[in-house]
Amino acid sequence: MKCDKCSAPAVLFQKYSGLHLCKTHFFADVEKKIKREVRKEKIEGTLAIAFSGGKDSAVALSVLNDLFSHRGVDIIAISIDEGITGYRENALESAAILVAELGVRWEVASFEQHFGIRIDHVNERPCTVCGILRRSLLNRLAKAVGASTLATGHNLDDEAQTVQMNYLRGDIDRLLRLDHPAKEGLVRRVKPLKYVPEKEVALYAILKGIPINLDECRFSAGVFRAEVRDMLNELELKHPGTKYALVKGLERILQLTNRLPFELGQCTRCSEPAVGTLCQSCNVLDKLRSTSQDRAT
Ligand code: SF4
Repeated sequence: MKCDKCSAPAVLFQKYSGLHLCKTHFFADVEKKIKREVRKEKIEGTLAIAFSGGKDSAVALSVLNDLFSHRGVDIIAISIDEGITGYRENALESAAILVAELGVRWEVASFEQHFGIRIDHVNERPCTVCGILRRSLLNRLAKAVGASTLATGHNLDDEAQTVQMNYLRGDIDRLLRLDHPAKEGLVRRVKPLKYVPEKEVALYAILKGIPINLDECRFSAGVFRAEVRDMLNELELKHPGTKYALVKGLERILQLTNRLPFELGQCTRCSEPAVGTLCQSCNVLDKLRSTSQDRAT
């Protein structure tokens, strides 16, 4: 099959656009989507990129470094070691290869250093704990390195799943919190891969030879998310463009509401942004401590 934009062999058929694309036009298409997303914000000063070593964050780091490192923007990759034996060490080894290739500054912080816990030792809902602590630590690190913006590697599939999960739970507050602009104490976030489907991110990384870690964490990312993922994949097959429509639809809702559905204050314990007295990470750490005390008695 030939590329619909030139006569070179196609490497991909995009069902949602109806186009066959060769390697060159596929790269251009992914990079155009990334540029369109980051251009919504003015990127200057220091740009921190959450970097796990997996395909999504590796592609985000590689493309953003190409885009901004020659424009006076300092790029800093930041990685979190959650304390997951047999998984995170390998991902960090692969991350080290890419940061060395690109020559970017790299900061690594662990849950153990900052919160005194490892996800290995969390028995109940490890993914919920991991997600809350990771978000908090990324924000702290981004502030510590003086970043004006924090880029994360969420792709179209991740975003569509999160939007759909919140609709299905009727959790409109959480839905409206997904993409609101930065508030005091929260570093502004961008999601450069937000409109790039997961399969295309993987293909881009492979065809570009970007070193990526393919290991899966042994904790499942959640049964409900897996069900929503399968449902959306099926819908996308029958109705190409479904995932894009879900994510774009939320963007439109946020433009119309333009306000946070809660008041953001400061955590009385750690001074991080909080809704109420304690931030989510202090709350979750309190729960973990009281559970382990209960077990000990
Ligand atoms: Fe953390 Fe769960 Fe992801 Fe593993 S699968 S890295 S525990 S959120």
